[in-house]
This record gives sequence, C-alpha cells and structure tokens, in this order.
Amino acid sequence: MVVMKFGGTSVTDRPAIERLIAIVRAQRQADAQEEGGDARGPIVIVSALSKVTDRLLGIAAEAGAGDIEGALNNLRDLRARHITVSDVVTDGALRQPVLAFLNHEFDQLERIVQALGVLREVSPRWLDTLAATGEILSSRIVAAALSSHGIEGSWVDARLAVVTDGDHTQAAPLFPETTAALMQQVDPQLAAGRVPVLGGFVGATREGVTTTLGRGGSDYSAAIVGACLGAGEIQIWTDVDGMLTADPRIVAQPQVVPHLSFAEASELAYFGAKVLHPATIQPAVARDIPVRILNSQRAEARGTLITSQRPPSGRPLTAIASKKAVTVVDITSSRMLMAHGFLRRLFEVFEKFRTSVDVVTTSEVSVSVTVDDRRRLPAIIEALSEFAEVRCEHDMAIVCAVGEGLQNEPSLAGEVLLGVGEVPLRMVSQAASRRNVTFVIREADLPGALSQLHDRFFAPEPAPAGAQ
Ligand code: ADP
Ligand code: ASP
Ligand code: MG
Repeated sequence: MVVMKFGGTSVTDRPAIERLIAIVRAQRQADAQEEGGDARGPIVIVSALSKVTDRLLGIAAEAGAGDIEGALNNLRDLRARHITVSDVVTDGALRQPVLAFLNHEFDQLERIVQALGVLREVSPRWLDTLAATGEILSSRIVAAALSSHGIEGSWVDARLAVVTDGDHTQAAPLFPETTAALMQQVDPQLAAGRVPVLGGFVGATREGVTTTLGRGGSDYSAAIVGACLGAGEIQIWTDVDGMLTADPRIVAQPQVVPHLSFAEASELAYFGAKVLHPATIQPAVARDIPVRILNSQRAEARGTLITSQRPPSGRPLTAIASKKAVTVVDITSSRMLMAHGFLRRLFEVFEKFRTSVDVVTTSEVSVSVTVDDRRRLPAIIEALSEFAEVRCEHDMAIVCAVGEGLQNEPSLAGEVLLGVGEVPLRMVSQAASRRNVTFVIREADLPGALSQLHDRFFAPEPAPAGAQ
C-alpha cells in the first residue's frame, strides 16, 4: 500500500486535480496488477490549494489587527476560488454536499474572523483552527472528485486521524494514538476498496482541539500516516522533477538526483531543500519505508528515490541545500575564557525559548549560532545578556553541501570552500557524520556563491560523441 501526498500546486485548480486523479488511477492499476487484483489503497494526502495557507494566515493577521472588513473580503475571494475549483466534482449529486460543506466552513470562518477582529487577538490555538481549514477543504473536494471520476474516494477528517500534542502551530504527532485512530478511520475504508483522502498538515489533540504540524507539514503527515500503517512507499508529488542538485529558484539548471540515502535527504531538507519537510524522513527511517519525490505535472519522470542506502553515484557531492533569512548570533563570554558551564547555560536559553539553532561554531571566548526562527529572538538576547555579550547579524544565508563522498575524500571539504571563490565565509562547520560541509555567508552573496559552487561540482555531463 502506497501513501501519495500531493502539494499545493498539485491540487491548485481543476486541471491539477484531474492530473492527480489520473496519477491515483495509474497507481491503483499498477497495484492491482502486482497483487493479482486485490490491492489496497492508495491513501491520498493533500495540501491546501496553492497559497491558501498564506492567505488564511494573512486573514488571521488582519483580524488580529482589527481589520474585519479586509479579512472578510479575503475570505470572500477564498470562498469563490474553492467553489470554482469544486467544478472538478463533475457529478452534480456528489458536488452538492461538497458545496454545502464549503459554504458551511466559510460561514463559520466569517464568524470566527468577526469575533477575533473584535478581540484584536489571535491565539496560536485560533491560528491553527484558521490555517487548518485549507487542508480540510481541499481534501473534501479531492475525495469527491475521485468518486465522480470512477474511483471511490472517502474523505477522512485529519482531525480524527492524526493525534498530536498541544504545541500549536508546531505540534508533534503522538504515534501510538495516531496509529489507533488511523486503524479506526482509515483501515475500514481501505478494506472496503476505497481511497481514503486526508488533509495533510492538520491534526488534533487527544481532547479534539485542532493543531497544525508547522509550515510545509503535509509531507510530514504523509510520512506519519505511512509509518503508522506500514506503507510500502511514501510518494511526495510536487512541482519539480525530484530533489534537485540545488534550489531551482537560485541556480539556473540544477539536475535531478536520482537516488538519495535517508541521511542525505534529511540533511538537505534540514538545511533548506524545501521540496521535503525536514521531519519527513524520520518516520520513514523508523519503518524503513522508501520515499519517492515525483512531479505531478510530468508523472512519467523518474523522480528521486530515497532509501536507507544508495548505490554509488560516481559524484563527490550529492546536492547543495541553502537557507535564506538566517540570523547569526555571536555570544561572547563576559569572563576572559569560556567558563565551565557556559555552553550549558547558553543552550538552556535557546531551549527555554523553544528556538532551534542550525549551525554552531566556537572559539576560545565566543560561540556563534544561526537561527532562522526570529520570533523569540528579543527574549533570547535579553536572557543571554545576563551572562554574555550578544551581537546579531541578520540577512545571512546557510549553504550546506551534502555527499557521502565527504567521508572518504579528505580534500573535498577544502575544495567546496574554495568553490565559492572570494565570498567571505562567516562560519564554517562539518559535523561528526562528515556527510556535509556547511558554511554561512551574507544573503546578498548567496546567488553568486551557490551558482559558482554548483557549476564546479555539477557541470552538465558532456553529450556523447555523435549526439545531436
Ligand atoms: P509542495 O507545495 O508540492 O509541497 P513546495 O513548494 O513545498 O511544494 O516544494 C517544492 C519547491 O521546493 C520547488 O518548487 C522548488 O522551488 C523548491 N526547492 C528548493 N530546493 C530544492 C531542491 N534542492 N530540489 C527541489 N526543489 C527545491
Ligand atoms: N499548506 C501548508 C503550508 O502551506 C502545509 C503544506 O503545504 O505542506 O504550509
Ligand atoms: Mg511542501
């Protein structure tokens, strides 16, 4: 049984959902052939329609600022867009209940927004309720669209199927509870030959309060569901041909990486390869489930396969990830040398304010860390200032070159650093796994540095002699 996750651009309008249906149909046919006609699934997980989560969070911000009119106008747009997209449910008898559902959800959103606009405050709990609506709506449309195209889809409310802790906007799944809920909500649908469709990104606490897993979290939902139900494969359908050798928004012609190890994929996702949410790989590793990244607009492309081990690629580096909008925090001990316990105190501050650091370097008297979530930075600086001098530098970028080759070729790390030429390096680090070399530069230098590094290690292979 396969879990297939479709991202925002893969469900954004009627043609996109029709492509999704063709992809699910092909998967069912392939499974039936393999299993001799008795295959289960797939399970389909969908994101909100493209950009809808951003819009919902924008609406929440407007409500929080008391701009009720602005928020209601935006809600009207969103309602109209969803109603238009629901045309994909071609069977009128199936479309009617979908329209009723959409209208009911939007009526409710309007009431919530009005109340929040009066209070002028949006708690993380309400933020989750608003943000989750995107996936609740898209999954309901897609389930009915499958049914109206001859594949019996069955909408599963993710709030009843994915159980999380109460850490709103960044909730963590509770695996035993989620497995039990999925057995109850999803398994009977599979057994009846239906295709369960769930919204990604969304869950609820044991008490039934809506939560979300963090931005980009639909990939994580797919991995959670796949791991809990012991899927044979987790497919991430998106708008690029797979994991690319660099961010296609920065580098002109990145290439598809055909095969990655779990460890490589984790590092790339963690250091900014947006195509995969950083938490996705962890549940897949726990159950050793292959993950595939595929392009819903070019279903025939081979994509990227991610497994525990991979065959040698013949290339020293596998890919380069990058992350923008990073802040470097320099923390210097107020005493001459770093006193015993300094590091513990320092990291306790980051822990207290629940902010993770990505890159860490140390010298005799100072520690530098990078942070990409700046929400609690003022409080962190205040707490650190009690025992250290603190200096921040914003608008920085992390570059992380990943490759198993770094373990065997001692000179490779040096070559990577030389690959960015004259660009000043603010921090450099290589972790114990020696699977990556990571450095921090100014964000303004990122496009040039990344392109230069990419050209050096991923020059297109020369066409064979005689080729046109
Ligand atoms: P989805 O909505 O399908 O989840 P995302 O926008 O979250 O899609 O992720 C896909 C995007 O990730 C691509 O369109 C691409 O711009 C970006 N991206 C950044 N780095 C990489 C990379 N190394 N390989 C592939 N895509 C990347
Ligand atoms: N819709 C959510 C977001 O935009 C989750 C996702 O797309 O993965 O963050
Ligand atoms: Mg995504």
